[in-house]
Amino acid sequence: MDVKTKEPSGLARVRRWLYVPDAGERGTGCVLCGSCYGHGPVNPMEDDPGPKTKCPPYDYYRFQRFTPKSRWLMTQRVFHGLDAITPELKEVIYTCTNCLMCQETCGVRDDGAGPWDIAVAMREEIANTEGPIEPHRPMYEALRRANNPWGTDARGAWAARLGLKTLREHKAPTLLFAGCSADRPEGRAAAVALAKLMQKAGDDFAILGADESCCGLYARDLGFRDEYTRLRDMNIETIRRAGVGTVVTACGSCRRIWGEYPKDDLPSVRVVHGVEYLDELARSGNLKFSKKITKKVAYHDPCHLGRGAGVYDAPRNLLRAIPGVELIEMPRNRRWSSCCGGGGGVPESYPDLAKWSAEDRLAEAKAAGVELLLTTSAVCHRSFALAGKILPTRELLEFIAESL
Ligand code: SF4
Ligand code: SF4
Repeated sequence: MDVKTKEPSGLARVRRWLYVPDAGERGTGCVLCGSCYGHGPVNPMEDDPGPKTKCPPYDYYRFQRFTPKSRWLMTQRVFHGLDAITPELKEVIYTCTNCLMCQETCGVRDDGAGPWDIAVAMREEIANTEGPIEPHRPMYEALRRANNPWGTDARGAWAARLGLKTLREHKAPTLLFAGCSADRPEGRAAAVALAKLMQKAGDDFAILGADESCCGLYARDLGFRDEYTRLRDMNIETIRRAGVGTVVTACGSCRRIWGEYPKDDLPSVRVVHGVEYLDELARSGNLKFSKKITKKVAYHDPCHLGRGAGVYDAPRNLLRAIPGVELIEMPRNRRWSSCCGGGGGVPESYPDLAKWSAEDRLAEAKAAGVELLLTTSAVCHRSFALAGKILPTRELLEFIAESL
């Protein structure tokens, strides 16, 4: 692959949306409507205006500075040299959980990204000029040293005793991308269950094992742009060299990030999450659910798999196909799903906000009469595990594997 020139990062990357007259056609910015935190007009083009609660940090702190709008305006003032980067401004910028909710409500940018990306650009600016904030420094150093945010040196331990082959050993058309949480409690169940289901389906697939790097989620959302592009380019190169045609991810956040890699670099590669892969199998009659499970469950849409990748139907199709399962929808579902609080490095920098978000979601499920909350993202599982014991939660892929 060609060596790429360094990509713009920080405020230079988003200058078009910070009122810069020379940005080709005149740039545009926040129009102060307030829709992104539940105080704006209802979009007349929307059938469903969604719940009033929208931006988790605003809903928790209840100060207007913690809104997508304020993050945008504050960033604009820094860009124009009107304000300095202060500890108070950093607090506002780093409380964004990267839940992507403001992408659903704000139509100002025309490149598909929401106001959250302005906060990410501000994080990039801060990281470029001052380095990582202290709560994120261990993740930054781990990304540089071990290519994953947890500093796991021995990747691939999750696959021990499953009899899987790596891409080095076997040139398979399909890659199971386990994700860097697969060697941690919050991600292991998804990777193991998906591998077993793919084996059962007879698919010709391989894993990366010890060679697997992070998809780049944490580097992307925490503002370490150079690390993100490095990991992204490594992953693209690996897939191209191996001639892989399909990437199946075990984590919702990996699905979002792989889906954001430039299409031109992976022209004929299909990226799906395990639930999409299994839904296709079920609909073609190659996956049959025979075991009855009498349970009232709800599905928590992970922000990155739902709003980030548009995957809403596949997990619900699978749950409805399991005999005995009663799927209950929580009031905030699909594109209006509320955030578990686990993204954006918030559990590291503002654990009280992360815990509140997770507990708020679990309480919503409990109030809806749910016995078990299912989801399929390591980020969400980690966040729910840090919350109080309100309701049992489980990995959806594992639940499906046990339903066959
Ligand atoms: S960020 Fe978007 S939705 Fe929020 S106030 Fe500004 S224009 Fe409106
Ligand atoms: S991504 Fe979520 S937390 Fe961040 S500004 Fe948007 S709505 Fe708020």
